[in-house]
Amino acid sequence: MNEAGVGDLDAVADRLERAGSAVALTGAGVSAPSGIPTFRGEDGIWETGFDERDFHIGRFETDPAGFWRDRLDLHEAMLPGDVSPNPAHDALADLEARGHLDAVLTQNTDGLHQRAGSERVLELHGSNRAVECRACGQTAAAEPVRERVRAAVESGGEAGENPPTCGECGGVLEPAVVLFGEVLPRQTFREARELAAGSDLLLAAGSSLTVHPAASLAAETRGSLVVVNAESTPADGRADHVLRGDVADVLPALRDRVLE
Ligand code: NAD
Repeated sequence: MNEAGVGDLDAVADRLERAGSAVALTGAGVSAPSGIPTFRGEDGIWETGFDERDFHIGRFETDPAGFWRDRLDLHEAMLPGDVSPNPAHDALADLEARGHLDAVLTQNTDGLHQRAGSERVLELHGSNRAVECRACGQTAAAEPVRERVRAAVESGGEAGENPPTCGECGGVLEPAVVLFGEVLPRQTFREARELAAGSDLLLAAGSSLTVHPAASLAAETRGSLVVVNAESTPADGRADHVLRGDVADVLPALRDRVLE
């Protein structure tokens, strides 16, 4: 991997310091140093036997119990134990706290930006910490629901509940994440577009920038586009700076230059 050069970092730090408004657009690569696999790339979860078609809204609608069983396996493969924010999350939280970043627009559903202390986090693809009733819209914490599904799978249906249902109305519960084939939360996406369009600098970090419409936010900035990623992305050609490297190195180095 080509590491981000010192000159590039200095130039980006300078732009960030002078930017009246800046936002970060983050992807799965920002959580990779916390031990959470990405979807794509050579270590991506789709290379390990999971099939993205199993997590499509159509599968949920026709086979909610099968969907939930596979979803539980995916969840356990992605979040095998307790995970914590890493230095990349910390760097973005520090930049926000010191007034150099207005918001984090994230494709991640793991809540690690918030745990690192970022305050304005727009979850473009929802949250894996919640579930939502398809019938009445009631939301609830996800983990107790996953426990019910786990018990049902392990007992062959003797215990637990799969598919899990709503305590209020009996409707089927769905993870509060954007499934393949679903639209993004309208209000959140509108707000994210406004923030991106009004930014003097957009820092796209740890994202393959291939999942739309979230990736299209990178093109909305009226100012500079900076891409920080381990691999090339389709936006590199129109980026003002590309910092190739590990987000857990590059983002703290950038923070240190801006805050020093
Ligand atoms: P992606 O999997 O398409 O791309 C991740 C990118 O991060 C890759 O280009 C990879 O090269 C890069 N990367 C990996 N480790 C890195 C590191 N340490 N430093 C720098 N770059 C690194 O992810 P995406 O663009 O976010 O889109 C995928 C979709 O996957 C999103 O919809 C998101 O909701 C979902 N997802 C979320 C999580 C999570 O919540 N943590 C994890 C996996 C996937």
